[in-house]
Amino acid sequence: MSILDDMAAALSNGSVRVVDLTHTLDPDFPVIVLPPEFGQCARFRMEEVSAYDHRGPAWKWHNISMSEHTGTHFDAPSHWVSGRDLPSNSVDAIPPQDLVGPVVVLDCVAPAAKNADFLLAVEDIVAWEARHGRIPAKAWVLMRTDWSKKSGAAYLNLQEDGAHSPGPSSDAIQFLINERDIRGFGTETVGTDAGQAGHMVPPYPAHYFLHGAGRYGLQCLSNLDQLPATGAVLIAPPLKIKDGTGSPLRVLALIEDVT
Ligand code: MN
Repeated sequence: MSILDDMAAALSNGSVRVVDLTHTLDPDFPVIVLPPEFGQCARFRMEEVSAYDHRGPAWKWHNISMSEHTGTHFDAPSHWVSGRDLPSNSVDAIPPQDLVGPVVVLDCVAPAAKNADFLLAVEDIVAWEARHGRIPAKAWVLMRTDWSKKSGAAYLNLQEDGAHSPGPSSDAIQFLINERDIRGFGTETVGTDAGQAGHMVPPYPAHYFLHGAGRYGLQCLSNLDQLPATGAVLIAPPLKIKDGTGSPLRVLALIEDVT
């Protein structure tokens, strides 16, 4: 049998399962809030066009609007100034081969529960590799914090001095790119950077270094508690928006039942 025949059989008999890592697009789902001098990200909106009525007797449909960066979404290299001049840097130009690949999950639940400003450090990655093996090249690295289980004001966790949520340190993201050649980095929070990352050097280092190196971001992920630390495959194709800097998307993981 071919690999894909085996895969189809495994999907059919349940030995490979599909896990949905996506939040529902909903007007109430929080979007990132920037300082007031900057332009702001729009929430998801949906208006009814018809609902089996005089506006369309046999059909129901909606018009929707949102930011490229609303809900569970993908960040392309053109999202950041560091990636503005790279080739194939927008969502419509990313090679499709890049949109399916291996994924590892770093469990940061305990430290993030103790400290909303927890920063993933290089030492945490090295300790994770001592248990699970080296992060493979071109892997998605997802930072699990269980932040997706928060809702409402607790999700952004805005204080007088801005948002407080966990993320990677500048050193950690550079290590993942330069030493491990990752495909991208994903979080359960509203951005790939920590809530206070605007004060870091450079500001928003995950965005700065990932996109400057042609790597991708995923944020507002959920259900990371259903993934194994290693061995899953991520399917994360953004919408094909011309010159788009990002896009809401459905993120799926394939996991193998090894029991
Ligand atoms: Mn984004």
